[in-house]
Amino acid sequence: MNQCEDRHEPKYKIIYKPTIGQIYCHEWLVCEQCYETKFHFGSEDMIKSIVPLSKISA
Ligand SMILES: [Zn+2]
Repeated sequence: MNQCEDRHEPKYKIIYKPTIGQIYCHEWLVCEQCYETKFHFGSEDMIKSIVPLSKISA
């Protein structure tokens, strides 16, 4: 799975809306810092949902 930076600890999963011609949704794991700065996010219009990883593993 895609991740903001290899050395960063992922805290959130960003799920992007599928674009035309794409079968699956793009998903990115981002750390707290990249989440705050919205680094690697791209356009907010493209984001379908943001899921904290703590909720997934809990
Ligand atoms: Zn990061």
